[in-house]
Amino acid sequence: MELFQHVIGGSEVPSIDGQTMPDIDPYTQEQWADVALGGPADADKAVAAARDAFDNGLWPRMGFDKRHKILHAFADLMDEHAHELAMADTRDMGKPITQALHDAARSSWNVRFFADHALMSMADTYPMDSGHHAYSTYGPAGVVVAISPWNFPLMMSSWKVAPALAWGNTVVLKPAEDTPASATIWARLALEAGIPPGVLNVVHGFGPDSVGEALTHHPDVDRITFTGESGTGKIISAAAAANLIPVSLELGGKGANIVFDDADIDNAVNWAVQAIFRNAGQVCLAGSRLFVQNRIYDEFMSRYKTAAENMLVGDPKDPKTEFGPLASAEHHKKVTSYFSTVKEDGGRILTGGPTEGLYVSPTIIVDAPASARVCREEIFGPVVAVQRFDSESEVVREANSTPYGLNAMVFTENLSRAHRVAENLKAGTVWVNCFFIRDLRAPFGGVGDSGVGREGGNFSREFFTEPKAVVMQINRKED
Ligand code: NAD
Repeated sequence: MELFQHVIGGSEVPSIDGQTMPDIDPYTQEQWADVALGGPADADKAVAAARDAFDNGLWPRMGFDKRHKILHAFADLMDEHAHELAMADTRDMGKPITQALHDAARSSWNVRFFADHALMSMADTYPMDSGHHAYSTYGPAGVVVAISPWNFPLMMSSWKVAPALAWGNTVVLKPAEDTPASATIWARLALEAGIPPGVLNVVHGFGPDSVGEALTHHPDVDRITFTGESGTGKIISAAAAANLIPVSLELGGKGANIVFDDADIDNAVNWAVQAIFRNAGQVCLAGSRLFVQNRIYDEFMSRYKTAAENMLVGDPKDPKTEFGPLASAEHHKKVTSYFSTVKEDGGRILTGGPTEGLYVSPTIIVDAPASARVCREEIFGPVVAVQRFDSESEVVREANSTPYGLNAMVFTENLSRAHRVAENLKAGTVWVNCFFIRDLRAPFGGVGDSGVGREGGNFSREFFTEPKAVVMQINRKED
């Protein structure tokens, strides 16, 4: 049986009290690894290691160029170990291996991108007419706590940790309790690449009354970056406020996917399937509310249903599999609890539903009114609620009617409409005629219950640094 321990101060260590927790593979529903189960004392130890590495270590002081080289070596090692990293996520949460490999490639890209970005944007200058010269530098903020969710274990962790490291911070990463394995493997690779001990620490455990809570209340922490549920985000925001430290919150969503009657239907069907059934719908950005314009409704739905039913369901370790089980028994219980609400709320299941083990097959719900729970709440599973619409203004109003505002998709061949609708949607990201495509320079985050703050490119720089302005008088006369 494999063992995944904490990585603190450059060493793999057990919990102080020796406790462990089982790591369950949702496909077999059996334990495949043992994991150190940390508590508040382990959180303290990890923060102390990160604090020491920040206050007394080389990493914040070595300069951008050297850090850039080490981070690129780290990314290269991640590519060499991509299969090991991806398989850890597949075993931990049932993500099909081809998708986990895609996440692993995106994760090493996160490391390379933020290393390059920091090197190229480490300072700004502001020449002044008044005989002064101003410039700004972006020094590291200090000790960063990164708390990640289970749906994209490595990718979400690297999205937070890569910019934090590139700007010279030290980090304590707490992966989700259901998906701990890739974080320990990743921290081993960081050490091998030459990232000094104590710069990237990993501590495993739960959130409330456990490692997560202890980290977010810790007085020696300078930044908290969190991705997870909106309710947890509120609790973490309150903890950060008590210590007066900035917090970045990437939270839940109920994405609207709008298909107008002039859309390229093949393209819209393809993305509408990906938008809710990729990663078995366990995606914050999922297009879980699908709006289809009346004139094309029947044709679109017939193709959409066929495409959903044709997804290759199977063993997530098989490269052919497109659709795996849900991540855990607890999550399966939550997702399947929505099935009894469909009829109660006036909807109908067109296709799908729970099958064997922890599988829920691609599920399409029709005829549910906008007030139905499946149209309003984040199910976080392979369940899409389809609504019809007539006009642009009607669909924009409906799309904006939940407390969330993470993202939306628009399918139309009408350029003016695409711009108009994108402008009017309440969302941090709007995709037009595509989905999930990211430029890491662009802001990423949500409005309303979907989050606070943005990360990506300069937005990550704002969060992970303490910018400093220097203004100098320049003597214009020769001495
Ligand atoms: P979660 O909030 O239950 O847990 C997320 C992490 O927070 C875990 O590591 C957990 O241990 C920790 N945690 C829980 N309670 C805590 C507390 N009181 N103090 C400190 N840490 C605590 O979320 P989840 O179920 O792991 O993830 C699914 C959620 O994440 C969904 O709502 C999804 O939409 C959201 N998500 C958002 C984005 C985004 O970019 N906006 C990306 C991925 C997932």
